[in-house]
Amino acid sequence: MDEPQAFAIGGRMVAPGSCAEIDFPITTMATGTTSSLAVRVLHGLRPGPAVFVSAAIHGDEIVGTAVIQRLAQELDPRALSGTVLLVPVANIFGFITHSRYLPDRRDLNRSFPGSAGGSLAGQLAHVFFREVVERCALGIDIHSAAIHRYNLPQIRIAAGNKRLVELAMAFGAPVIIESPLRDGSLRELAHRQGVDMLLLEAGEALRFDRLSIETGVAGVHRVLAHLGMVEEDDGLTTVGIPARANRSVWVRAPRGGVALIERESGAPVRRGDVLARVGGLFGEEALEVTSPIDGIIIGHATLPVVHQGDALFHIADIPHPERVGARIESITEAILASEPEGSAEALLDEDEVV
Ligand SMILES: [Zn+2]
Repeated sequence: MDEPQAFAIGGRMVAPGSCAEIDFPITTMATGTTSSLAVRVLHGLRPGPAVFVSAAIHGDEIVGTAVIQRLAQELDPRALSGTVLLVPVANIFGFITHSRYLPDRRDLNRSFPGSAGGSLAGQLAHVFFREVVERCALGIDIHSAAIHRYNLPQIRIAAGNKRLVELAMAFGAPVIIESPLRDGSLRELAHRQGVDMLLLEAGEALRFDRLSIETGVAGVHRVLAHLGMVEEDDGLTTVGIPARANRSVWVRAPRGGVALIERESGAPVRRGDVLARVGGLFGEEALEVTSPIDGIIIGHATLPVVHQGDALFHIADIPHPERVGARIESITEAILASEPEGSAEALLDEDEVV
């Protein structure tokens, strides 16, 4: 076996079997405070690939931050082959203002590759890409739905890449969506640089939910196991096979008013099934919202106050939806079957907490 080597990053040398936190300076804010990008490096005792896990590239999509906190506790560099880089908050500016965007209103995920002398978003994208993404063979980037929307945990990958399909299968989220890459996105640039990317979409902006967090934590463990970086079961034989889709449709509110939703993310639907009813302020003149296709609901609106044209449901085109729906239910149950951390606190009366 190769002699273990230190991992050089940000002017530091991380010894094999140890971890280090590196703060990359980004910019000086209007008030004179400096801001920096926090990266934790776990460098294994044995050689292996480098993998990054990042969250909150959209500053309000914080589910991945909880996933990364768990990984930081659970992954032991002494038991690791290769290197894991954890970035709990990529959009450090949007995170503190609970915003998807940066203070200059730019979208970090449309700002790659960025540059050292560029906009705030460009500077951040540049450092993140050069110091983290380019160093890795694989990245797992965690997003959630926008505010007031919920996404069934799903892996999105570039279309037509066999290796990514295999890794997405190992991740074991209920659904895999193969879709084209967007210009300027992290996934698109990573693809051009030969870095494989899995994108996890899970849960709702500014909220944590257990299914999303457990899916994320278990998925990263399984991918690392699949790559031989940790000695764990990669779950390919024990987790149900995820459903795959390469087409999805949005279903929109047919009128403004109040939406009463009858189906949620994860549910199988048939063309013509009623998904919701949208009526006026007194519930009058309610219009049915029906599914235009057979498939699985992969995202739904959580805010009942809607304008005409607001997106209510996102449905993946998946044949045999009932069968797939039952499988999604069993994957969901398996993920939630593990004992939650801090479950004792969950027993507290709400009044006691408030
Ligand atoms: Zn996002």
